[in-house]
Amino acid sequence: MNPSPTAAAQAAVLISEVGPRDGLQSVQATMATADKCRWIDALVAAGLREIEVASFVPARYLPQMADAADVVRHALTHPGITVMALVPNARGAQAALAAGVHKITLPVSASEAHSLANVRKTREHMLDEVRTMLALRRDTAPATQVEVGLSTAFGCTLQGAVAEDEVIRLAAACVAAGADEVGLSDTTGMANPAQVRRLFQRLRAEIGERAGAAHMHNTRGLGLANCLAAYDVGVRTFDSSLGGLGGCPYAPGASGNVVTEDLVFMFEAMGVRTGVDLPRLLAAREPLRAGLPGEALYGMLPEVGLPMGWGVAA
Ligand code: ZN
Repeated sequence: MNPSPTAAAQAAVLISEVGPRDGLQSVQATMATADKCRWIDALVAAGLREIEVASFVPARYLPQMADAADVVRHALTHPGITVMALVPNARGAQAALAAGVHKITLPVSASEAHSLANVRKTREHMLDEVRTMLALRRDTAPATQVEVGLSTAFGCTLQGAVAEDEVIRLAAACVAAGADEVGLSDTTGMANPAQVRRLFQRLRAEIGERAGAAHMHNTRGLGLANCLAAYDVGVRTFDSSLGGLGGCPYAPGASGNVVTEDLVFMFEAMGVRTGVDLPRLLAAREPLRAGLPGEALYGMLPEVGLPMGWGVAA
């Protein structure tokens, strides 16, 4: 059930919820399939229109994602939403495309050190993998969208600074290979607003309308400021996670992903429509909490609630 087709049509920004993938693969516990489905239902009911629901990786690496195809099948029963999955290689892409996802997202590290640690491939080998996956899309599921997320685009905990020229070069290479969109991810929570503004402007100058989402982390408290900086230079798609789920292995006690509740509140308070209903979004924490008892959830808005008079028509 999507309660607000009109709100969705009028939305000025797209909030892409990544909790069921990015969040759930970062926690130790495995959420039961039925609980994942209930949580996704609640996210859809809140008006979220794009949800990254799973990661197609071998279960021996990420047992939390072993039910990816089942979760995708359930998510696809909701009309009007974009069902996304992350795939790190051609085998994963094959499985995701067979499951019928609307969009796949491919992680390409901007940092060579992170690429080797994360996918055990150099960046050039990963670009070859991207080309293989794009060929697979063309041959088997041409209607499926393909987005590349350039991780560690703003800095890397393994190698430190990441050259902006390298980020832009990789983005251009992915577009040349046929990617529909290339977004930038602050995987390590190292970005600042000035850097976000500069790099997204360069990205837009290089690949135009194929410049994709801002995937910001709140590790050092700059998540919302970085989203706003990206918005100011034309970014209109933002990745975030309900309850900031996933935490951050590099900063105990800190949220990893930007908290969806706080992000939606910021935009709605500014008069920038998200299509998301905040009371229903806050209610979507319940199935998450029930499915992952004891897991830390974050967010400032959920702590204090909506301001007096919120939602009352002026
Ligand atoms: Zn993330």
